[in-house]
Amino acid sequence: MALTQADIDTLAKATIPAQKLLIDGTWREGRGGETEVLSPINGRILTTLSAASAADVAEATAAARRAFEDGRWSRMAPAGRKAVLHRLADLIDRHATELAVLGVRDNGTEISMALKAEPGSAAGTFRYYAEAIDKVYGEIAPTALNVLALIHREPVGVVAAIVPWNFPLMIGAWKIAPALATGNSVVLKPAETASLSLLRLAELALEAGVPPGVFNVVTGPGRVTGEALALSHDVDVMVFTGSGATGRRLLQYSAQSNLKRCYLELGGKSPNVVFADAPDLSAAAKAAANAIFRNAGQVCVAGSRLLVQASVHDQFVAELAAATRKLTPGNPLHLDTQVGAVNSLTQLEGNLGFVADATREGGEIVTGGTRALEETGGYYMDPTIVTGVRPEHRLYREEVFGPVLAVTPFEDEAEALRLANASDFGLAAGVWTASLSRAHRMIRGIRSGVVHVNTYGGSDITVPLSGMKQSGNGADKSLHALEKYTELKTAWIQL
Ligand code: ADP
Repeated sequence: MALTQADIDTLAKATIPAQKLLIDGTWREGRGGETEVLSPINGRILTTLSAASAADVAEATAAARRAFEDGRWSRMAPAGRKAVLHRLADLIDRHATELAVLGVRDNGTEISMALKAEPGSAAGTFRYYAEAIDKVYGEIAPTALNVLALIHREPVGVVAAIVPWNFPLMIGAWKIAPALATGNSVVLKPAETASLSLLRLAELALEAGVPPGVFNVVTGPGRVTGEALALSHDVDVMVFTGSGATGRRLLQYSAQSNLKRCYLELGGKSPNVVFADAPDLSAAAKAAANAIFRNAGQVCVAGSRLLVQASVHDQFVAELAAATRKLTPGNPLHLDTQVGAVNSLTQLEGNLGFVADATREGGEIVTGGTRALEETGGYYMDPTIVTGVRPEHRLYREEVFGPVLAVTPFEDEAEALRLANASDFGLAAGVWTASLSRAHRMIRGIRSGVVHVNTYGGSDITVPLSGMKQSGNGADKSLHALEKYTELKTAWIQL
């Protein structure tokens, strides 16, 4: 039966109980006090999170370590882990609407997008790694014939995952699913403003049969709970998606503690490059708007720098502005809303600060630039286009993580490539051209983990997401992700 607005409204009225930590298979209060969760939809208090103190984090990592060492999961046959992860995927599907609504209530993503990108994607990710795990083989090395050298792939041990608030279930699953599939234990630290759907996922994981201690969740402030986790000597691998500032800290914590491996996905300032010979400039203009404004720009691969060939710049910006004016922000729980809420007041104020700096530096606002729907008490912003942005401007260099698009003209392909690469980031890019040769030259030339051609933002679980430059290291998604959660061991046998 098709999902109706009434179904969503009913779920959205449910009272959310005070949340707890999941440690060693039991739900308990944290000793770091409680923090309020505010609704980005109306600014009101939704519920409270329990904050895990350093002592709670130590118990969670110790539980994960015990579970790993005694083999309750790590030494289960791959087919056994596969069956459990398939059950979890089925449970996510069964509770998809509930999970999506819960997630939107604390993170603010428009529900139409959340339904696909959150439970839909998470279930698919668990299925993908469940299916992968009994198909990944070790190797026999091509040594001399008097030796047999076997290369084993082993789970690393305890994986800590610290995740952000923009797509908690999707990004969480990208890390939890391959980590669990390969036999590791996991301690998850969700973002303060997007913990609810992941805590519900943890309940479903227990119901699916993930043994106690194998999957633990500690909520709380980054500087307390996250820091304790990152400094833990019980954590072997840290996987993270979030800001560059926190990524840098995680590398320092690793150096200060046990040299745990750190895999970081740190966002971007992704160029979307439109050449005058694009096959359909109107389609490109609509796609360029969606590439930055869906989920209020809170997308790590968002096309936040639009580079347009000067000969079509004014016409393109006019079409872009027309497409953008149709993307009005609204209540993210309404099925027809295309741009939801900004996650928090801090984030909204940061977005507006970027716009103020951009105008001071000589950029020109074409649409938006202001807070919207303030009377609701929620955090909304009008999709904002700024033209005349130069590489030395703050809006060109720094990630906003909000609905603000920087537009810059270029003359020719060489300048387009130079401008595209004039960034410390290297996560994603788009190129619009009818020339196959030009498209391939740009794909080769742009330093980013993905280059979209004549589209923007397409992806699925079969391809890696990995940042170049200061966008990070290591891959989420695809079989390549398994490398982060396993290590190689050689057995050298003299025959
Ligand atoms: P964003 O800008 O996406 O909020 P953050 O890097 O601040 O990015 O947050 C991403 C995640 O990192 C969140 O779960 C947050 O709690 C956590 N975090 C923030 N600061 C720290 C820290 N010092 N140590 C560990 N985790 C942190």
